[in-house]
Amino acid sequence: MSGANQIREQVDAVVVGAGFAGCYMLHRLRGAGVSVRVFEKGTGVGGTWYWNRYPGARCDIESMEYSYQFDEDLQQDWEWTERYASQPEILAYINHVADRLDLKRDIQFETSVVRAVLDEESGRWLVDTSAGDLLSAQFCIMATGCLSSTNTPDVPGLDSFEGNWVHTGQWPHDGVDFTGKRVGVIGTGSSAIQSIPIIAEQAGHLTVFQRTANYSVPAHNAPLDPAVQAKVKGDYVGFRARNKEMPFGAFADVEGREESALLASPDEREVHYEKWWNSGGLTFLASYADLMFDANANDTAAQFVQRKIRETVTDPVTAEMLIPDQVLGCKRLCADSGYFETYNRDNVDLVDVRKAPLQELTPNGLRTRDADFELDTIVFATGFDAMTGALLGIDIRGRNGLTLADKWSAGPRTYLGLMTVGFPNLFTVTGPGSPSVLANMVPAIEQHVDWIVACIVDMRDASLQQIEATISAEDEWVDHVNDVASLTLYPSCNSWYLGANVPNKPRVFMPYIGFPTYVAKCEEVVANGYEGFVRT
Ligand code: NAP
Repeated sequence: MSGANQIREQVDAVVVGAGFAGCYMLHRLRGAGVSVRVFEKGTGVGGTWYWNRYPGARCDIESMEYSYQFDEDLQQDWEWTERYASQPEILAYINHVADRLDLKRDIQFETSVVRAVLDEESGRWLVDTSAGDLLSAQFCIMATGCLSSTNTPDVPGLDSFEGNWVHTGQWPHDGVDFTGKRVGVIGTGSSAIQSIPIIAEQAGHLTVFQRTANYSVPAHNAPLDPAVQAKVKGDYVGFRARNKEMPFGAFADVEGREESALLASPDEREVHYEKWWNSGGLTFLASYADLMFDANANDTAAQFVQRKIRETVTDPVTAEMLIPDQVLGCKRLCADSGYFETYNRDNVDLVDVRKAPLQELTPNGLRTRDADFELDTIVFATGFDAMTGALLGIDIRGRNGLTLADKWSAGPRTYLGLMTVGFPNLFTVTGPGSPSVLANMVPAIEQHVDWIVACIVDMRDASLQQIEATISAEDEWVDHVNDVASLTLYPSCNSWYLGANVPNKPRVFMPYIGFPTYVAKCEEVVANGYEGFVRT
């Protein structure tokens, strides 16, 4: 148990995690003269991009947008090589940033924060780590990532399986050799859709176990056109400013989006969708402005993609299995490189585990209700306990010993996704209730870090010790997040945005939809003297 008498180090701030959020937080806090220690479970920086090393891992936001903007020299100097950066290139980028800013000396790697307890008398957080560190910090900042706690289904017999099993989100650093192997991939989300085409090329045989068919559009990844790079760099500040005004904080310079799919004739829509399909990527969902608001509009896009799937997959039975039945974009749209084409290979089979669920792993493979599959390697592409999993994996205790797990037992409750009542001076970077995963993550992280650092500096300047959200502000914000979501089609299916992928997780829509509105709200809160917070 933590106690003041055991404390080995006093700092102003502890930061948990050294992904994009933790690294930028460290840089900004240091610059503000705040003493800070960062703890990171991995052996290096990068967070998501450190752990997700599966074959084909690649960002689905274009390279020129998926990077820090706080340093003009940095964004001018760094050269991306592809339209969509691969995981190794993003990891190289974040390492470059960490080295350039000399961040690593303040990051303790291979160390998890296991407990953070509020000492109500001093108002400080007592933080325990897996390495036995005990720290006292005025501020505890959770930069733990939205998709960092992996979800491995509790399938009986996992220990009995005599082959090799891996999760895409905890991929072995020395890779996995699929050559000639009988491989099973469980899941058909983004991670699976990116890795399946590459695994299929290497494996002797690949069986994909699909519970829910997913929509995917071609990424059309390619070497980055130097002219595109030069154009963006010619006015990077303007490019970033335009993106900040977009609903997802991205895609500003994509031309040709139209208001309503329903105002166009079927022929016009066909031409329109074909153009967006051919240009590639997630902007397909922005081709008409009402696709996530009107089910009939959405259906026009869904039918277009369904037809593409039927045209691509030669076996009609397999093609029908691959046709999704949910709203397009309700589960995050995927961007692929040859995903549907992979099912035309002789060494690839698709199995529907909604009809015949997974029952157990056996020493030789996997058993569904209907059949046994002999496998050498099983890839769990089964996603994450998103947005709350990493936070609730730490024993966090606030006022009166209340645990965060108890506070959030019916779903996360926050004010602005930044703080939660009962846990003063504990900040969450891109926490539930903020745009986070429904925005371009890097600008969303920068906006949060800038807000938190300014808040800490303002408190220091005003000789204030503590900040906490009010219960009325939190309640109103939670209602508002839900109200905004209910205007859209997002809550209409079992997505991880709702926690629906994890058994027994409360069904609550977690991200806030609308990056510009959110940024304006954060700025207004500050302009009104930190409205909705009590500072003492
Ligand atoms: P995911 O989207 O949650 O997909 C997990 C898959 O596993 C789903 O198909 C899910 O089926 C299936 N599954 C889970 N539990 C299962 C079970 N017990 N039995 C059978 N199937 C099961 O996870 P992900 O693919 O790792 O992607 C998560 C998010 O990470 C993405 O949405 C995206 O935001 C991000 N990501 C981004 C990129 C990129 O930038 N390109 C790449 C990878 C990931 P159900 O749908 O039925 O639950």
